Amino acid sequence: MNNKTFLNILIGGFFILVLGFIFRVFGENFQTNKKINHNPKLVVGIVVDQMKYQYLTKYWNHYSEKGFKRLISEGFNAKSNHYGYAQTSTGPGHTTVATGTHPAVHGIIGNSWFDKKTKKSVYCVDDSNYSTVGSSTDQGKKSPSNLLTTTLSDENRVATNFKGKTIGVAIKDRGSILSSGHTANAAYWFDSKEGSFISSTYYLSNLPSWAQEFNDSRHIDNYLKPWETYYDISTYIESGPDNNNYESNFSGEDNPVFPHNFKIQNDKTGEPYYGSISSTPFGNSLVTDFSIKAIEGEELGKDNITDFLLIDFSSTDYVGHQFGVNSKEVQDTYIRLDKEIEKLLNYFDKNIGKNEYTLFLTADHGATDVPGFLKEKKIPINYFNSKKFNYHIEKSLIKLFGNKYLISSNSNQQIFLNHELIKKLNISPKVVKQSIMDVIQSFPGIDNVYSSEQIFSEIDDHFIKLIRNGFNKNLSGDIVYTMMPNWVYYRKGSTHGRRFNQHTHVPLILFGDGIKRGSISRETDVIDIAPTIASVLGISSPNATTGKVIFEAIDD
Ligand SMILES: [Zn+2]
Repeated sequence: MNNKTFLNILIGGFFILVLGFIFRVFGENFQTNKKINHNPKLVVGIVVDQMKYQYLTKYWNHYSEKGFKRLISEGFNAKSNHYGYAQTSTGPGHTTVATGTHPAVHGIIGNSWFDKKTKKSVYCVDDSNYSTVGSSTDQGKKSPSNLLTTTLSDENRVATNFKGKTIGVAIKDRGSILSSGHTANAAYWFDSKEGSFISSTYYLSNLPSWAQEFNDSRHIDNYLKPWETYYDISTYIESGPDNNNYESNFSGEDNPVFPHNFKIQNDKTGEPYYGSISSTPFGNSLVTDFSIKAIEGEELGKDNITDFLLIDFSSTDYVGHQFGVNSKEVQDTYIRLDKEIEKLLNYFDKNIGKNEYTLFLTADHGATDVPGFLKEKKIPINYFNSKKFNYHIEKSLIKLFGNKYLISSNSNQQIFLNHELIKKLNISPKVVKQSIMDVIQSFPGIDNVYSSEQIFSEIDDHFIKLIRNGFNKNLSGDIVYTMMPNWVYYRKGSTHGRRFNQHTHVPLILFGDGIKRGSISRETDVIDIAPTIASVLGISSPNATTGKVIFEAIDD
């Protein structure tokens, strides 16, 4: 090799190095132009009212390949997803999903609660400043004004400069309103008196034409019909006998058995009983139908700006309360819900586009078994007598202080002291509080009694944490009591509202754009849903979110 050849190799090598450098810089620039977030056309949030996680596994053999099974096989299943607070009811549940934080922070501490200022019970979405849109009843005097934080869809509205829409649909007002937040274009729910979907003047002054047309078509009346099982009832081997003492009858029925030929109209006036639709799986079908009309009417998912559709299937809860976890009715309701999920997924694929939408499905709380059934199967259970309990407290107050009015309210397992009267009578509030706590503790079935100060103490106890997360300093009571796991208030159907696993364990399935296929068994919290979807979208989590991103589910 002469010097010239060597020089040529050197120059050639130098050029290759320079080219490589330019390519790398250019390549990096090219990489930074790649979007760092997913941009689904639509986010669909489905909350199934009172859905236990085990309903996925228990009825698995009856589900089609295109409903729940498709969500799980193509999406991400968080198998151990729990509520992290004790007050497991509908208002708090929907709000927790939407806000990514606990009732202690978002302020929806119950479906109703005692208001310390007005000394009256408040319903979580009542608001007399607004009136009904879509019917002549007062069922639309509602708003999200009691909700103290933003929701995920609020953040999407802000992030898209209010171009991404939000629509909520449910049978229950609180399911729709609390899921969709302060800035929703509209939340709709079912007026069971007139049989129409309605809204509130909080959102709009008139129903949009698509919603009015839906009501005017009286499509709703098609669901005023007897309820028969979807498949032959003899194949429903996963649940108990159809006729038993632990279920409540529909009005007009002698026994709680299929086919349910309940009253669908008033015998005298001939007016339809629309409330019966809510208490059957047909309420869920109605929600599907109205949701699809909303997508079409509002053009949701049509452009590249992410919209939100928040659907609450409320009828599962009515059926659960009436018939219980182990009933044929609950089984049939979930088999039929699977068909609704299939219908929605097929519709989204066709009209929004496969992998052009992101979906989550969860529940607002679980449910516990019918006590009579448990007793029959030798599982210990006792009835807590609320009447006797209240009498026991009153009697003790008279004996100790000569006055039974030292308590303003006993609700949601909380005692609100009558501070004005205690002051007026010049009694030590500390003494009154401790005395009432001792009185409560002595009643059969009571597990723990805590003062508000104890709830905020440093005690690192699983159940105290759950109570603390549901306890708002400004809104909650002075004393909280809990019942033992094997003591219940009710005699028929299932219930919820407590701190045990049957009440807290709910499904969480994530699906679609930005979501990996897979599953996890580690425990997740319902408050993790909002930050996870926010992370997929690349937007802020709701303003008081305390949940953590479920990173295992995200397709980066
Ligand atoms: Zn509920």
